[in-house]
Order: sequence, then C-alpha cells, then structure tokens
Amino acid sequence: MTERTLRIELLDTSRRMVELGLNRGTAGNASVRCGGDILITPSAVPIAEMSEQDIVLLATDGKVLQGRKPSSEWRFHCDIFNARPEIGAVLHMHSAFATTLACLGKDVPAVHYHIAIAGGDSIRCTPYTIFGEQNLSDLALEALRDRKACLLGNHGMIALGKDLTEALSVAQEVEYLCEIYWRALQAGEPQILTAQQMFEVKQKFVDYKKRDET
Ligand code: 13P
Ligand code: ZN
Repeated sequence: MTERTLRIELLDTSRRMVELGLNRGTAGNASVRCGGDILITPSAVPIAEMSEQDIVLLATDGKVLQGRKPSSEWRFHCDIFNARPEIGAVLHMHSAFATTLACLGKDVPAVHYHIAIAGGDSIRCTPYTIFGEQNLSDLALEALRDRKACLLGNHGMIALGKDLTEALSVAQEVEYLCEIYWRALQAGEPQILTAQQMFEVKQKFVDYKKRDET
C-alpha cells in the first residue's frame, strides 16, 4: 500500500472512530505502519478538522521524518510497533464504556466469550498515570502482553490489529464487552466464564475463522 493510501485509511479510521462514538474532539489517536516507519495522527487537532497533510511520518524511534507535532502518545505507538512485529495498527480511544471501567480500575473478566477476540480471558487495566509519558507506555505494553487490547486507568483504551480494519473491529468488540460488563454489574453479579470454557471457545474460534475465510 502506498503512503498516500495509508494516510487516507488512517484519516478514514479516525473519522469512523468519531462516527461510532468511540472518540470525540481531540481525544484519542491512531497510527499505522508505513514500510519501516509509522504514520500517526497529529497532536491536539480535532478529528473533524484533520486532513491528510496533518498526518505525521515518524521513525520507529519517535523521530519526526515529515510533518509537525505527532500525537502526544507517540511513545506507546512506537513502543508497541517495536515490541510487536505482528501488529500493523494502533488505535487509542476515550470511548464511554471502556473508560467507565478504566475509571473503576477494573480488568474486564471473561464475561462474554467474545473477549477471546482481544487475545485472552481478560482485558487488563493499567494503573493511572499521566498521559503522554514513558510510564504510560511501559504500563500499556505490560497490559497488552498476549493481548490486542487494554484499558488505561482513568483514561481510555488501546486496541491493536494487523491492520486498521482489524484494530477498529477489536476496538468495537472491546467497547461492546465493556458495555455488557458494566450493564451486568448494574443488574447483579455477572457470571464469569471459566478457564476451561474459554479454552473451548478459543479452539472453536479457530474453525469459525476458517469458515469465515473460505
Ligand atoms: P493527542 O491529541 O496528542 O493525540 O492526545 C489525545 C489523547 O488521547 C492523549 O491521551
Ligand atoms: Zn488519551
């Protein structure tokens, strides 16, 4: 894919996040691998006002190669790409339900079998730390171990994918799961799936995805 196409896709995905109610204003950010470098949304520009030219090209060490000020969260975007070769896109959101649970400092347990889409039996939540600093990146990387999503304490959510399409679909799933968990908590004590039940789901998902691809 050309850099131009990736810039358009990154902008489209950022707009979709707003349309889907996952972000608003200048909250959140997004990045995608571009050859050996990274395209990332700019800092403090409302998504509605963002253009292709505002997207910043970064080296994987965070050096700006083209453009102006990258997202203040460039550290975790770069660190994720450096640590996770299978990941091609990183999305960050302040979506309502994921952020509600992040404000409770709660990991999301296996309240619904779709949690497997995020890579495991739980979605971890980091402790709170200020945005845009290395400590947030270090905590996020740890919470994302073997996962495609995590919550950031009192802040929001990160979703990953091999490309922007997958990352957006993971983000939607995580937001849905957080909504279900939050609603279930209002009504009573949610029943949590066991490790064995989740093991069976993961096996079944392998076949399910095969059918999906034929
Ligand atoms: P940026 O506008 O710098 O990307 O910051 C938004 C945000 O969500 C910080 O965590
Ligand atoms: Zn944020």
